[in-house]
Amino acid sequence: MGILDQKKIIVMGVANRRSIAWGCAQEMAKQGAKIIYTYQNERMKKSVSRLVNDDDHLIECDVSSDDSISTAFQKIKSDFGKVDGIVHAIAFAKKEELNGSILSTTRAGYALAQDVSAYSLLAVAKCAHDLDLLNDPASIVTLTYFGSERAIPGYNVMGVAKAALEANVRYLARDMGEYGVRVNAISAGAMKTLAVTGIGGHSNLLKISKERTVDNQSVTLEEIGDACAFLMSNLSTGVVGDIIYVDKGVHLI
Ligand code: NAD
Repeated sequence: MGILDQKKIIVMGVANRRSIAWGCAQEMAKQGAKIIYTYQNERMKKSVSRLVNDDDHLIECDVSSDDSISTAFQKIKSDFGKVDGIVHAIAFAKKEELNGSILSTTRAGYALAQDVSAYSLLAVAKCAHDLDLLNDPASIVTLTYFGSERAIPGYNVMGVAKAALEANVRYLARDMGEYGVRVNAISAGAMKTLAVTGIGGHSNLLKISKERTVDNQSVTLEEIGDACAFLMSNLSTGVVGDIIYVDKGVHLI
């Protein structure tokens, strides 16, 4: 018996097998969850289809569009009924703004990073609530990074977006509690994914992050996925509005 038996969970943000969303989906499926995947666009669908050989469980959803979120969630509700959780593992900023000095951030680039990486959590939660898509209890988990608190080289505008995302987690947790919905974030250690390769000097970031773990071993997708499974499960009903580090201690050192 798994801790997520009978639970249906939407996983947003699988791009390929290195994606943190994929690690979360895999570990949650091992715990008995049925996973429904959303993908950003047709290009992403091609790559996700190599991992998920079931078109019925793949739904398009571009979080920069309220219409797209609404269409996706309506389809999910009509195909699968209410769900027990949503994993939001989505972020984006322009590559040229993830480099050098934050002084080169443009107004448009700042707004884009905030929209896709921070506002989208509110948009997703609001749409799920408006469509009565979430069971009581349900859990929403997003992915953040330590660059929200410290000035990490190259992370710049994304660090600012992650700070906003973490604040969104707290306010959403406060306001969704009455509907039985918990909201939390995992602050994951640095891992080589498609998103990370957009950050200037990412090889150095990954190297230093590994050196700063307590055992000189980078966190794995499985470890992040297991924490996600815990936060989705009824084992974590007392954890609300929190940012849980799953980074092998990098934030300590
Ligand atoms: P990834 O590139 O595998 O995943 C990012 C996903 O965001 C992709 O699937 C992409 O399609 C999706 N996305 C971007 N814009 C979108 C939009 N408009 N609509 C829908 N989807 C959109 O990279 P990842 O590292 O697995 O990133 C997942 C999350 O984890 C992000 O929030 C990232 O900031 C966070 N995170 C990553 C690390 C790391 O080191 N990789 C560390 C901590 C937190």
